[in-house]
This record gives sequence, structure tokens and C-alpha cells, in this order.
Amino acid sequence: MSFDTFVVVDWSGASKPSPAKPSKDAIWIGIAREGGVEASYHRTRADATDTLATLFETERSTGRRVLAGFDFPFAYPKGFAEALTGTSEPLRLWQALAQRIEDAPDNANNRFQVAAELNDLFPGIGPFWGCPDTFGDPRLPKRGTQRDGHGMLERRKCDATPGAQTVWKLFTTGSVGSQALLGIPRLLALRERFGADLSVRPFEQQDTPITLVELFPSLIAHTVAALAEPDEIKDRAQVRILAGALRALDPQRLDAMTREGHPEEGWILGLGHEEALIRAAHRAIPQPCEAPMRSDPDSPLLPPRLRDDCFAMPQGVSWVPVDEALAKLRAALNPVTGTTTIATARAAGRVLAADVAARRSNPPMPNSAVDGYGFAHAATDSGVQRLPLVAGRAAAGQPYPDAVPAGHAVRILTGAILPEGVDTVVLEEDTNTNGTTVVFDGPIKPRANTRKAGEDMAAGELALAKGRHLRAPDLALASALGIAELPVHRPLRVGVLSTGDEIIAAPQLRAAPHQIWDANRPMLLSLAQGWHYEPVDLGHVGDDAEEIAERLHEGAREADVILTSGGASAGDEDHVSALLRARGTLSSWRIALKPGRPLALAMWEGVPVFGLPGNPVAALVCALVFARPALSLLSGAGWTEPQGFTVPAAFEKRKKPGRREYLRARLNEAGAAEVFGSEGSGRISGLSWAQGLVELPDGALEVTPGTPVRYIPYASFGLV
Ligand code: AMP
Ligand code: MG
Repeated sequence: MSFDTFVVVDWSGASKPSPAKPSKDAIWIGIAREGGVEASYHRTRADATDTLATLFETERSTGRRVLAGFDFPFAYPKGFAEALTGTSEPLRLWQALAQRIEDAPDNANNRFQVAAELNDLFPGIGPFWGCPDTFGDPRLPKRGTQRDGHGMLERRKCDATPGAQTVWKLFTTGSVGSQALLGIPRLLALRERFGADLSVRPFEQQDTPITLVELFPSLIAHTVAALAEPDEIKDRAQVRILAGALRALDPQRLDAMTREGHPEEGWILGLGHEEALIRAAHRAIPQPCEAPMRSDPDSPLLPPRLRDDCFAMPQGVSWVPVDEALAKLRAALNPVTGTTTIATARAAGRVLAADVAARRSNPPMPNSAVDGYGFAHAATDSGVQRLPLVAGRAAAGQPYPDAVPAGHAVRILTGAILPEGVDTVVLEEDTNTNGTTVVFDGPIKPRANTRKAGEDMAAGELALAKGRHLRAPDLALASALGIAELPVHRPLRVGVLSTGDEIIAAPQLRAAPHQIWDANRPMLLSLAQGWHYEPVDLGHVGDDAEEIAERLHEGAREADVILTSGGASAGDEDHVSALLRARGTLSSWRIALKPGRPLALAMWEGVPVFGLPGNPVAALVCALVFARPALSLLSGAGWTEPQGFTVPAAFEKRKKPGRREYLRARLNEAGAAEVFGSEGSGRISGLSWAQGLVELPDGALEVTPGTPVRYIPYASFGLV
């Protein structure tokens, strides 16, 4: 479902109307919709609620779907609803709170009184705390540390986020407890007024004209500070910018985000998606004097595009060190592939297009880690334990239907849910049994041999992060968490073109002695395939500007990026660079690298072109060192660096300073790196002989046997 109107409310728990002059710590409402972003100031909760009701009415009557976010908790830690209402349903809790709360049109209210009464329902002191000195009810302690034995959890799962306060704290800086007590009844009133046209996420998942969610503006606090107008009141900036950001998010992603979370504790919209929110905020809110943002795959407005001058290098630079060239490349590029959804089982090799959260905890219920006997730990002790066995057993997929009384044990198998009354399991091998009693030596540690619910991953937790290149174990994780489909990038289409009058396209064709078969194209196409991209064979063309131009034209239509080989230097016969210089936007990067000639980088009809050297050795090294991370970035998977290992050298070499060198290498039986006999860059056999590359640093180096050198296996470059 997609939304049309985005509302962000900064709520307030004040006891008096806020000042007539717009000020901080009051209620602010931000609205983003077609036509722009606006913010309004409200002195009382009653006034703000009326404004919202009117807005919802108007939008509903014109068919515009509203997403409204509020900056206070919609729910309490697990267990509180049950204690108050006898059910774990948060909306029942809303009713129970609304029955108690009185909140007058002038903001006068009884929240501290209600909190004190609620505390009375619990043993000990608490869980609510914090009140002004004038409030003298001993049931509501002034300080959090004065609480004791109330039995409630301190935080909801989503309150673990940095800066989030607990729902129990009602007073002073940053507290949200009062906002919740005074906000929830107002939301309930709206819910009653709009009936089936309004749903509260994540508790209600149906599509309705009005959807309410919980927000936490501090999630993007730095961005708000950066994008605020000079001297703008912080609360105003927050609601304005966050509303704009929600509107600028990818609608599908936002819809999925509203559905995340815990059925009892709720969820803060946007947790785990901070980066996307921040980028959306930048798209939504123009910042004066800022360079235009690069396009982004999340943007519903801008198709991803690279700038024509993205490869520009300052003129006059002689030789660019490898690291500098890589940094330049990294800054120039961004993802260019669209996104789609795919069945999890078919997603291997694809790039994840959005963060994915666990739909359910794994394991969903506490269960047994071994075959053995389960019992309540509290009823056992040290020394010999004899526990009567209950009839039946608990097995994986066959839950034990009854409670196991304290002092009894039940036969339990690996993976079986712990029956009620069981919290500890003794390993079968450590017991003796006659079928009616089980005997073992105590003490057994509490919860021994059990797995906690969610100990692997809790519902709502980030399972797989955007940009991940999905592999077999990721499919296992997604499936285990109940995720049937994954948002992925379309595979990057990589065009490969060979050039040169001497080149014969394929070994099936006859080659005269002055001709050679094309070695680069099969190599580069297979690299693209191995990197899980879609190879697009653009064939071979002679050294003819028109032919090359025509093939690049085809490539720009059918591919997202083009790799050419040959003709990329600056000599007479270097037709690729000549053409790109004349009609594209060539930038010839003179990189301090051996083997390697200048790398020709250009944009051709909006598509980046990597002009690799013709020499197969140099072509492979440049493809691995430069094209690989660049393609990864274009594909949505982010920049990548190969993993290298320091190993002793099994060779000798006196390396001159000034450029980085890559040697064709492999490890000998002793684990030392040996290098190919010849460094000649025409020696294709050496590429095939090697299992990886030795990377020698830019400076001078005297290598003798045993000198530590960096070895990068082909596998680290994703070569298959
Ligand atoms: P160039 O970069 O065009 O000056 O070519 C450098 C060397 O690489 C020359 O010896 C070319 O014949 C050779 N070469 C160019 N393209 C290929 C190719 N596709 N396969 C094998 N060798 C090539
Ligand atoms: Mg040539």
C-alpha cells in the first residue's frame, strides 16, 4: 500500500497550555503531501487532536491515504498489558488506560495519579516513576532507583535503540512516559471516530485510509540538525523533516516498514532503516548551497543516473597511485540497477535492495537442545535426584499438551518446545530410568540444555542488510525467519567488447599468422558471470571509429556498464580512446600500476565505459583491481575490497619505487608465494598457471625468500 499524506506529530505531556508564541517542547505537527511540507504549532492536546481529526476527514473524503506518526510509545514492555487487562493485546491496554486518564481541554490531567494507582497493581515499588516534588503520593517514587520488585521488564525490544527512554519514566528530560499516558487515550478516540478506516501498526495490519505508527525523531537527529532552517525550533524542524523523509522513501519499503515489529510491544518505525531515512530526508528537504545529491535507488522521483563528468581527473596529474584512483572511482559511482522482489529460494547471487528484518523470532519458542528429560529447575537440588515421569513425551513438531507439575520430569527430544513447567533439561546420557522415574546427579544448572526463544534472532531484528550479495547461508537465515520473498536489485548487465584489427573473434574462425584469437572477451564475460552479473556479449570490432561507436551505442541500450579491451592508450592506433575523447567524455587515468596502461574511463550515452588495456594480463589485473569494485558499487552491493593474506615470499625481486605491482602467483607446498617465471605482460599462460596475485606496495622493496608479501587468491577476487 502507498500513502499520499504524511503526518508527523511531536507530542507533549504538559499540564498547562503551551505559550501563545510558538515554542519548543510543545505539540508540533508536520505534514508532507503533494505541494510541499508544512508544520503547525498547537498549544493543547485537545487542539492538536481536533486538527488531526479534521485533517484525517479531509484526506479520507478525497481518497488520500494518510500515514500519521507519533513520537511516543504505543505499547509497554511485554507482560504489562497482561497484568492490566488479562490479555496481551496492546489495544485492550489502550482502553484500560483511556478509562483511567482524564485530560482536560486546557491540558490539566491526572497522569501521576493514574501512574500511582497502576503501580498499586504490582508488588514492590514501581514500575512507573518520576513526578514533581509537589506530588506527594508514595506509590509513585521520584527516582528510578527507588523502585523494587515490581516484576516488569524495563524496556521494550525497540527501546534498546540509543537515546530511547523507558516508558516508565514520567518526568524530566527526555521522558516519554507522560506522553504515552496522555497520548494513547487521544489516539484511541481517533480510532473510535474513524472505525474501520483507521489501523494502528504493527498491531493491525489491514490496509486502511488512515494508518498510525510510532516514531522516534532522534533516529535521524544529526540530519535534522543539518537540514533545519537557521534558528528553527528543533521540534518544528523534526516534524517537518521527518514527514518529508517519509514521503521521499520508496513506498513499498515504507509499507513494509510499517508492518515490522512485535505484536505486543509495538515498534518504532524506521529502526534499522536509518540510512534510508537519512537519504530520504536529504532528497525531500533542499539544503541551500549544497551540491545536488547523487541519485539513489530508493528515490521514487529520480532514475539512477551517473553524471557525464563523473570520471573527470584534474589535468596535469602525472601518475595517480592505485589507492587514489580507487577512491576517485568509488566517489564517482552509485548504484544504477532497479529493484524487484524475488522468491527467497531463488535469490542466491542477487544483491539485497533493502534491509530485511526477522518476521518471527528464531527459535520461535524455547526448546530443548538435546534428547533427555525436562523439569522445573526450582524443584531440584544437589545430590541424587529422583523425579517421577509424566506420561507421554515432548518431541520436535509434537508439543507436549499439558503442564509438567513441579517435581516431575518429562521425556523430551531435541527441538521439542519446552512444555509448561519445564525450564531445564538433563542430558539422556547422564540419567537412568526404569520408565516411571528418572534418576540423575544434581545440581543441574538452571536452563541447562535449553535454547531461549529468539536466542538466534528476535522478531524485528535486522536479519540481512541492504547491499548484501546473497549466498546460500543467507537463504537459510531468511527462510528460517519466515521471509518468503526478498527485495533485490536487478542484476547488473555488463557489456563486453573487444577491439583491434588483429583480433579474430572466436577460435572456431581461421586466423592468419598476423592475426590472434580474442582472449579477453571470454575472460571478461566469464568474470561478469562469476560475479553474478548478466554478461552481454558485444562481440569484436576492428580499429574503426564508426564500428566502435555503433557497438557502444548498442551496448548503451543493452547494458548498464561496458568493458572494452584494446585501443585504450593514447597512440595512433588507439581508436577506442580517440573515439571516446571525440564523442564521449573520456578521462584517461594514468595509474601507477604494473601491469597496466592508462585506464580509459568515459560515459557513453549515460553508461560508464571502462576501457581496459588490450594485453590480457593487464586486462585481467585492471578488471580485478578496478572494474570489480566499481561494478559491485554499480550493482547495489557497495564497494568491495579483496581479502589478501600475508605469506612468505618464495622468490627474489628488487622492486623499484613509483608504482604498485601485481605478480602472477600461487602458493607452494610450504605456503610460500612463488611467482610466474616471466613478468612479460603477453604471457597468458602465466595467468592460467597462477592461483592468485602477489601485490607489491607502491614504494621500493627488496624481496628475498621469506620476505612477507601480500597474496590475494583469485577466489578473493570472486574468480570461479
Ligand atoms: P592495445 O591495447 O590495443 O595496444 O593492445 C595491446 C596488446 O594486446 C596487443 O598486442 C594486442 O594484440 C593485444 N590484444 C588486444 N586485444 C586483445 C584480445 N581481445 N585478446 C588478446 N590479445 C589482445
Ligand atoms: Mg590495438
